Amino acid sequence: MIDVLVVGSGLAGMSFCEVLEENNKTFLVVADDSQRASQVAGGLYNPVILKRFTLAWNAAEQLKGVVPFYTHLEEKLKLKLHHRVPVLRRFASIEEQNQWFEARDTPQLQTFLSPKIRTNTNTSLEAPYGYGEVMHTGRVDTKKLLAGYGTYLDDRNLCVHEPFDFDALKIGPSHFEYKSIRARHIVFATGYGLKQNPYFNYLPLTGTKGELLTIEAPELKEHAVIKSSVFLIPLGRHRYLVGATYKWKDKTNTPTLEARTELLEKLDTFLNCDYEVVAHVAGIRPTVTDRRPLVGRHPQHDQMYVLNGLGSRGVMIAPYAAKLLYQNMEYDLPLPKEMDVARFSKKYVKG
Ligand SMILES: Cc1cc2nc3c(=O)[nH]c(=O)nc-3n(C[C@H](O)[C@H](O)[C@H](O)COP(=O)(O)OP(=O)(O)OC[C@H]3O[C@@H](n4cnc5c(N)ncnc54)[C@H](O)[C@@H]3O)c2cc1C
Repeated sequence: MIDVLVVGSGLAGMSFCEVLEENNKTFLVVADDSQRASQVAGGLYNPVILKRFTLAWNAAEQLKGVVPFYTHLEEKLKLKLHHRVPVLRRFASIEEQNQWFEARDTPQLQTFLSPKIRTNTNTSLEAPYGYGEVMHTGRVDTKKLLAGYGTYLDDRNLCVHEPFDFDALKIGPSHFEYKSIRARHIVFATGYGLKQNPYFNYLPLTGTKGELLTIEAPELKEHAVIKSSVFLIPLGRHRYLVGATYKWKDKTNTPTLEARTELLEKLDTFLNCDYEVVAHVAGIRPTVTDRRPLVGRHPQHDQMYVLNGLGSRGVMIAPYAAKLLYQNMEYDLPLPKEMDVARFSKKYVKG
């Protein structure tokens, strides 16, 4: 008998395994490769919504745990994963500069928005109105992290690589049986794969496709993240991520020519050096109608849980939500109402 069966090994599943290990709980992961959001993510964490200059939901609280969580993983996996990097919001006009200062006057944004306008000194970039710098930002190499974490699990025989077979799940009064596994609890952390989950598909997960390009631009020599109509994220060795798109109809992980064209058109409005596209990826963000995570207990099956709805901010939210879910599971501590799936219990039709 194990304590928890975790389904899914993206940022959500991995973060939950971390909390379990920290608390000496036994677990096993079942995961396939059907969803790719965490693999393709830009990996940025940034507490500010840069379109409107507002603080993201609960961002200050989530941010507190980010650096300790990912630096602990760096030590554990012996990999360089976390990079502190400033995010520079490119201003498109004087009005935007003014909006920045207005936002900075609010108490919750003062810590995060720099009071000085940075002038552009990079001749490969067009930024006549300069930049505002967001503080306390960084990037996590999520692809490397998940590859490293996968190896860590495999070395300990803690991961079964297969699509979860819902027909093979038996729900008993005190535990679950899945094939030869017996577990006290089960946690579904399957990202957009939630749509195929008969226990939780009543939840309003919408899913938003995102695509990212990698370009190689030897002349650019930029070390900060530039946020204009798209993000330009330095990776080192003259490579940069460019993205991402937001699309609501197509739910495949297939890169499209339409997205590539859209991203390059936006990039060309502020980048004026030569570059070459060297990679193109796509994934589905697990977004929710009310833009809050989907965390908590199943309305009918007490020991069954969901950890989902990380939207476009999985790097910051995953460790935070995983910790709260664990405390809910183990100590029955209530979850914050905004993220608790109990807010949708009226949508659940008893099976
Ligand atoms: C292009 C793009 C850029 C992004 N950039 C950023 C960024 O810069 N910063 C940021 O914070 N966030 C970013 N995000 C969002 C971030 O990727 C997500 O919030 C996060 O990865 C979601 O993690 P997850 O574990 O919930 O889901 P996923 O990463 O989708 O993981 C789900 C896991 O469950 C598995 N699974 C699904 N169904 C089943 C099944 N039936 N059986 C077995 N296994 C199953 C999947 O294969 C996968 O292993 C980006 C997303 C995209 C698409």
